[in-house]
Amino acid sequence: MQSTDSLSIEEYVIVGGGTAGWITAAILAHSLKHFKNVKIKLVESPDIPTIGVGEATIPSIIDMLTYLKIPLVEFINKTDASFKLAIRFDDWLQQGHSYWHPFGKIGNAIDNLPFYQHWLKHAKHQGQYQFSDFSPSVALAEHGKFYAPRPGEKTNLSASSYALHFNAGKVAEYLKTYSLELGVEHIKANVTHTELTTSGAIKQLKLDTQPVLAADFFFDCSGQKALLIDKSLRVGYQDWQSFLPVNRALAVQTKPSNNIAPYTIAKADKAGWQWQIPLQSRTGNGYVYCDDFIDQAAATTQLLNRVGEENCITEPRLIRFKTGKRNKMWHKNCVAIGLSGGFLEPLESTSIYLIMRAALNFVQALPDKNLHQPSIDEYNRLMDNEYLNIRDFIVLHYCTSKRTDSEFWQMWQHLPIPASLSQKLDLFTSQGRLMDNPKDLFASDSWYAVLAGMQVTPNSLDPLIERSNFSLIEKAMHDSYTALQNNARQQRDHKQYLNNLIK
Ligand SMILES: Cc1cc2nc3c(=O)[nH]c(=O)nc-3n(C[C@H](O)[C@H](O)[C@H](O)COP(=O)(O)OP(=O)(O)OC[C@H]3O[C@@H](n4cnc5c(N)ncnc54)[C@H](O)[C@@H]3O)c2cc1C
Repeated sequence: MQSTDSLSIEEYVIVGGGTAGWITAAILAHSLKHFKNVKIKLVESPDIPTIGVGEATIPSIIDMLTYLKIPLVEFINKTDASFKLAIRFDDWLQQGHSYWHPFGKIGNAIDNLPFYQHWLKHAKHQGQYQFSDFSPSVALAEHGKFYAPRPGEKTNLSASSYALHFNAGKVAEYLKTYSLELGVEHIKANVTHTELTTSGAIKQLKLDTQPVLAADFFFDCSGQKALLIDKSLRVGYQDWQSFLPVNRALAVQTKPSNNIAPYTIAKADKAGWQWQIPLQSRTGNGYVYCDDFIDQAAATTQLLNRVGEENCITEPRLIRFKTGKRNKMWHKNCVAIGLSGGFLEPLESTSIYLIMRAALNFVQALPDKNLHQPSIDEYNRLMDNEYLNIRDFIVLHYCTSKRTDSEFWQMWQHLPIPASLSQKLDLFTSQGRLMDNPKDLFASDSWYAVLAGMQVTPNSLDPLIERSNFSLIEKAMHDSYTALQNNARQQRDHKQYLNNLIK
């Protein structure tokens, strides 16, 4: 009988040195650092560039830094980062309308009933407050302020939460240094061929600089090329373009803004939407669109008109993509992480989260050489759920729009939505309730923020809310809003906060 030790996986190879490759390397190297026999090698092409976008995150990035024991201030300094409290959605419901999807909690339960239900009653009586008026992150963002709550503190800003905007290239560099210090070997070479075993697993890779690179386990982080999972293992791709038809992005960088907003802007446009991501030393901009409705030249003009051609520090760059995901993220002895595994448009900045989740889930399902199939199936189920939930949440932003001013937006009036989203919307529109699944990335407050922002209201209220003392609730709302505004106004400007951290 083989001993447990001889069954443990000793050689891992990661193909690709973009955000996915280096996050995977960092998480794997950190998690397995006490396994003395484990070797991790990362192969990166010296000729094929990384995608070079992916600069807005969600709060789980802070959890990842904590997990890797990376000091936040050092990371901010090395990656040109700024803070992000929310996304402001402009022109999604109608042109001229804006709403927020903030991080952190929105409002506090009253009489053991969710704050959102009270707000619905307030809205039904033509109350003056938006749902997001009770978000500490929005109070800060609207005033251009930033504040990082300290663990355990109890103020009306402590329920705010934050993420980062950063330079993707610098993040990959930082995580590369981190991984190399933990013993990861970096090989600069092109993978030219993959050799399979008789059972269809990956045996070894052929490189242009050395004959073969063998390993027990492989990570495909080769981006859209999907070298291992697609070209070698032929794992199919679920095409989700019928639900999310945008398929092109133009990216351009501009000079930094004077006061570095602590939020991302996602502005709906004639054939898609445009992003604005403010970093310390530049602003990232882009136009995500569907090429059935606008050609590249016209999309470029629209993007440049918005950002001001004179502010550009790079040329607009076109990126093609196909929304969807692999049928299986883990097949045989290979896991696809990053763009090789799937793509969802960056409307809610979720791809880097999915990379981190994929690597952490792998560590939690760490295989031995027997590659137990039930663990693989469970990994694939968990990753499927992540993709499906995020997909539904992104579709929600489009399908609730009332815009009809272009063919693209007219299409959304009758585009079929996923059955899973339809079910969620039916539940919501009946009595304002949501399916609560603690494993979902986007919790109730996120769904409520978008539903309230897009003015989707339920047909009836929760009966328990009807018996609440309305004038007392209204007074509580007024007091809470006023206190939040006062406290937010007293905090430091985001730029000043950053300047204090930058060395
Ligand atoms: C327009 C757009 C905007 C985005 N915005 C966001 C955002 O705001 N937030 C977010 O979380 N995500 C965002 N993303 C997603 C994010 O950019 C990616 O998830 C992330 O960059 C990971 O990319 P990757 O590492 O998988 O691929 P890549 O960056 O493309 O890296 C692929 C690597 O594989 C290597 N490679 C390829 N072929 C070979 C070969 N034959 N041999 C050896 N090496 C090879 C390349 O050299 C490269 O190092 C965005 C994506 C797009 C398209």
